[in-house]
Amino acid sequence: MSESTVEKEAEMLSAEAARQILGISRTTMHRLLTGGELHGSKVGGQWRFRRADLDAYVERAPHDIAAAALPALEAEIRWWIPAPESGDEAATSEAKIGALAEAILSLALRREASDIHIEPRADGALIRLRDDGVLDDVRTLPLPLLAPLVAHFKKLGALNVAETRAPQHGWVSVPLAGRKWSLAVATLPVGGNEALTIGFQSRPSPASLRVGFADLGLPAEALERVGEWLEQPHGLILVVGPEGSGKNTTLTALMEQLTTPERKVMAVEEETVVVVPGAVQVEANNTTGLSMAQVLRAFMRHDPDIIVAGAVSEREGVELLLRSAHNGHLVLAAMDAASFSDVIAKLDEMEIEPFVLSSALLGVVAQRLVRRVCRDCTVDDAPDAALVERARALASAGGYEMPEKVSWKRGAGCAKCRGTGARGRIALYEVVSNAGEIAAAITRRAPKDELETLARAAGSLDVFAAGVRAAVEGQTSLSTLFVSLADTLRR
Ligand SMILES: [Zn+2]
Repeated sequence: MSESTVEKEAEMLSAEAARQILGISRTTMHRLLTGGELHGSKVGGQWRFRRADLDAYVERAPHDIAAAALPALEAEIRWWIPAPESGDEAATSEAKIGALAEAILSLALRREASDIHIEPRADGALIRLRDDGVLDDVRTLPLPLLAPLVAHFKKLGALNVAETRAPQHGWVSVPLAGRKWSLAVATLPVGGNEALTIGFQSRPSPASLRVGFADLGLPAEALERVGEWLEQPHGLILVVGPEGSGKNTTLTALMEQLTTPERKVMAVEEETVVVVPGAVQVEANNTTGLSMAQVLRAFMRHDPDIIVAGAVSEREGVELLLRSAHNGHLVLAAMDAASFSDVIAKLDEMEIEPFVLSSALLGVVAQRLVRRVCRDCTVDDAPDAALVERARALASAGGYEMPEKVSWKRGAGCAKCRGTGARGRIALYEVVSNAGEIAAAITRRAPKDELETLARAAGSLDVFAAGVRAAVEGQTSLSTLFVSLADTLRR
């Protein structure tokens, strides 16, 4: 054995080491070897691999690597970082950073994440993904990778790569998995480094953003109530909830339901997230330089039948919407409020004339999203007896009588829900029609408690009661409700 052969053999990697680097299973490795996709050689009955061959495989199949290798991403990346010496080396480095960026985007897509967060931490650059509204730490990359990664996304977004001390934001369009993706990219200087947040703005099937009216998950009686409001020629429908409650999804679904060739639908939103074919959608934000009130006034010159306003927060906007509702338009608006009684109280605080409100208001949809029990690992649950009794009392106060015997469900945790037992979300609704005693109570500025009592008497559940009903149906768990709706229980 010559000296050079020995040297070469020392460089050879064991099957286990190669597997670690590629982050693939034994089965996958076997498939790649037998299929000739990965080159290796047998030395004394053992597979051995040259780095160059692994490198060639990575270069050839970055998608496979992204899909299969993320557990071993860090190992790969250490190995990817070349010393930037010659121009050639620099070019390779850029290609590898590009592959890394793509690996991260691919992972986010596979997990159906809405955002990617890359944050400088003491021990490296932490990659976090948000899906179903919850952040999940994915991996810490070596800190030296952060700057080139941020620079890569800046280049894609036509941002200033040299500027690292000021926040920047822009749009990136990338082809991935055979589709074009529009990403919102934002950078922020953080302690000598930069943090990066990437939001997926257009999903291939924005199932979570575009939902048909009938698929909103409104219970039959609520669906009927809202359906009646939509048939009115004029009046105001309010969709309320805190941020992340899905109120914009509902507003869009109602808008789509109303958008027909016979009607002119005009919407003003801070940002058009879902394009509704047939509707005129205008953005009012700092970029367009338009205020919501300005746009609403302009709408009046365009003869609309239906007016939609996302996130109204100022008195002027509300007054314009009420005027439109009184003047023969059907108006849909979203507001930040916790419940029916809360939005009425907020409008009163804004000094909206109660009679003007009551005479225009058709009804209020208040909503929240909670995590759904994973359908793939649902098992029977035996929640704590005290928790069940507390839920029973709260549900009863919220308008829902829990049955004596319930077969509770929870998610045991599986690969599809990554062991969390929860996958996807369901909406919980409080749907209140403004009629009869409720209308009279709004006009005379009745206190919140009284509005609550009247809403329950009219057969509307509050969101917690709606949640208990969903738990009884096995869609969510009591523990999820007590955590996610804790703020609604302060009464
Ligand atoms: Zn599961």
